[in-house]
Amino acid sequence: MSTMIKTNADEMRLREQIVEFGRSIFDRGLTAGSSGNLSVRLEDGWLLTPTNASLGRLDPARLAKLDWKGNRVSGDPPSKEAFLHRAMYEERHGAGAIVHLHSTHSAAVSCMDGLDPADCLPPLTAYYVMKIGRLPLIPYYRPGDPALGEAIRGLAARHSAVLLANHGPVVSANTLEAAVYAIEELEETAKLFLLLRNAPTRPLNAEQIQELKATFKLDF
Ligand code: ZN
Repeated sequence: MSTMIKTNADEMRLREQIVEFGRSIFDRGLTAGSSGNLSVRLEDGWLLTPTNASLGRLDPARLAKLDWKGNRVSGDPPSKEAFLHRAMYEERHGAGAIVHLHSTHSAAVSCMDGLDPADCLPPLTAYYVMKIGRLPLIPYYRPGDPALGEAIRGLAARHSAVLLANHGPVVSANTLEAAVYAIEELEETAKLFLLLRNAPTRPLNAEQIQELKATFKLDF
């Protein structure tokens, strides 16, 4: 008799969502190989994609389920980037899901010199301002360095999204769907930024950003 994972209907639905969004992200080339990881908060812990797993081929029953002390409750061993997610959840109590990708254009921007570390992409479109707001750049750390978790912790309370230097973005939102849409908006904005690098550009001005913040109750 195999060990059945006891899950409620909500958790089952969230497991299916991780698999569906993972496949969609992978199929559209938004993260390559076994890079990228998705997580969602549960009532009794959180789910994270496993280590060395392609987002294109996830199995809902084998997602890593973790408690808040970092222990694995069930499933395959979690992504080695679990600590990024945990740091974000601990600082953002309203965050229901987190997506981290090595998406090409965002990763390209993360390697550029001379970015403003407090806000490393210009407000090119209203949709970027509404979904991301302000994007701080976190300095480079080697993979697995716990200091990276601490660096995220220092910014996550005030920012739903951060860009890791020479690496890629981490984005949180209330739901997995919202987090995926937000990281896609970030990726498209990074693409626009790179396309426009040698052209005179006219990002939204302070007044236009203020209007968006007031109209849509943005809190950055
Ligand atoms: Zn990564």
